[in-house]
Amino acid sequence: MPLAPAYAAPAARAPLTPFTVDRREPGPHDVLIDILYCGVCHSDIHQAREEWGPAIFPMVPGHEIVGTVAQVGNEVSRWKAGDTVGVGCFVDSCRQCEACRDGEEQYCAGASFTYNGREQDGVTPTFGGYSTRITVDEKYVVRIPPGLPLDRTAPLLCAGITCYSPLRTFGVKRGDEVAIVGLGGLGHVGVRLAAAMGARVTVFSHSPAKRADALALGAADFVATNDPAVFARHAERFDLVLDTVSASHDYSAYLGLLRRDRTMVLVGVPDPTPISAFPLVVRRRRLAGSMIGGIRETQEMLDFCAAHGVLCDVEVIPIDRINEAWDRVVRSDVRYRFVIDIASLKRG
Ligand code: NAP
Ligand code: ZN
Ligand code: ZN
Repeated sequence: MPLAPAYAAPAARAPLTPFTVDRREPGPHDVLIDILYCGVCHSDIHQAREEWGPAIFPMVPGHEIVGTVAQVGNEVSRWKAGDTVGVGCFVDSCRQCEACRDGEEQYCAGASFTYNGREQDGVTPTFGGYSTRITVDEKYVVRIPPGLPLDRTAPLLCAGITCYSPLRTFGVKRGDEVAIVGLGGLGHVGVRLAAAMGARVTVFSHSPAKRADALALGAADFVATNDPAVFARHAERFDLVLDTVSASHDYSAYLGLLRRDRTMVLVGVPDPTPISAFPLVVRRRRLAGSMIGGIRETQEMLDFCAAHGVLCDVEVIPIDRINEAWDRVVRSDVRYRFVIDIASLKRG
């Protein structure tokens, strides 16, 4: 079997240490990918620290994967050796349910998530992109448009699609007022995407020092949330609020920013948060959630990003700095996504 050096969390909240994954030999419909870069998502940390409940260990995190096709199964038609491809948050799904038929595989109850999940046999654990190679069914791979800097593209596979999908689903259009809450890995791509769609973007952030970055990313306005008076000042102003915050906070205050009949979408997944019914009831506002996107929409997002020059701002690290990087993500001390240079694992 193709052996892949990796980094794994051996147990909940334990530091990541070197590990080896036995990748499966490519079957007729599989591709074996040599991984070049893997982004570091806050979801990696939530799961390895069991902030979302019991997890599967050892855990090799990583679902923002860009690499080169090394080998293809004998019935693979869409990929050939040498293609530059991406793998996001899931590597398979049941292919039969309504979500799968609709191309919304991420909502399949039987989806195989890229790590901390099980393959379709329900038994074999999945291992993610903090490793040198991965074997994936050809249908769950996307094409990286030519000419993109691959380190700055990798985080689009999760952070990018997670913002793109709700901006599209909830119909953001030219001239709309969009609030992006939290300027982190997701939020910074969300600003660029919404601005590229023609929206007027305002960033709400608990880090006042991020003002200049927000404006440089394409935001028209920046609101520091340390002063509670800002919520009254900006009440009933927005067509969409996209909340990317990773820590528990008061959703009710942000609902008040919406105009009547408009929607606040949660993509951040912090601890349970109490929420008041009033801001929803008094203006028929909606509170929604959204999770990544399907394969078709992920490809559409990558093509959109290539056409509009949307990329991520990254700090590229060798794998042996991963534990320090995770601590910095938790402190909101990253501008704006760590990306692991997987060559550092091959050397190690
Ligand atoms: P991140 O880079 O850590 O960004 C989160 C941002 O939240 C921070 O940059 C910070 O922005 C804000 N924040 C953090 N702590 C805060 C606090 N105590 N109070 C107020 N604001 C705080 O994380 P990420 O990778 O973008 O992920 C964000 C969330 O989305 C995580 O919960 C992650 O699991 C989730 N996620 C969901 C999906 C999905 O499909 N729905 C996909 C990927 C990730 P400011 O400094 O600007 O305030
Ligand atoms: Zn993610
Ligand atoms: Zn399904």
